[in-house]
Amino acid sequence: MENILAVFTDINDGNLAYHVGDEKTNVDKNRKNLAKKYNYDYKKLVSMNQTHGNTVQIVDLNSEKIIDNCDGLITNTKDLPLMVMVADCIPILLHDEKKGVIAAIHAGRNSTFLRIAEVAINKMKENFGTNPLDIKATLGPSIQKCCYEVSIELSNIVKTSFGSQFVKGRYIDLQAINKAILRENGVEKIEDPTICTKCTSKVHYSYRKNHKTGRFSGIIKL
Ligand SMILES: [Zn+2]
Repeated sequence: MENILAVFTDINDGNLAYHVGDEKTNVDKNRKNLAKKYNYDYKKLVSMNQTHGNTVQIVDLNSEKIIDNCDGLITNTKDLPLMVMVADCIPILLHDEKKGVIAAIHAGRNSTFLRIAEVAINKMKENFGTNPLDIKATLGPSIQKCCYEVSIELSNIVKTSFGSQFVKGRYIDLQAINKAILRENGVEKIEDPTICTKCTSKVHYSYRKNHKTGRFSGIIKL
């Protein structure tokens, strides 16, 4: 098995998103420091203009560095870091350990309802011959069922679409839904550190805790 970089940043790495009202020079500086910390080429990093959809794109060295209207990235290119930005949504990193393919997924509520993890796995299968049994999936720090309260309407949608086991009152378990989707698609190696960005973590941005907040990241690189 090859060595890869697969990490989640925290507030000590600063805000990594351009769209949250932070100065561009600050974000640039944070992104450059991060590249230095993890020893990758700052200029090669690919990130997304995330839109809570289920578009997943395959990228390589010739791709744009910010992919528009996108919530998932896949590559088999070495030394091409992929980044997903979050503050409560689930950052999911996938690694096909046999074929050398990686993905970074932004799994918020809507993208989860649109089964974005499944879209990514299917793309890895079709384009790179990935066997889901070779995929290692890692869910990053995100808001958990202890804090993820939604409207009655939404909790009912989750019940009918996915099952009552994912709902308790008006609280939904987005991590469990994504893990179920991963398992349905043949992924068995799943890591879920179950850190709640809202109530347990003091080192991750949480949109529900503070609407004016930065974004931390999941980064993966072959
Ligand atoms: Zn919580």
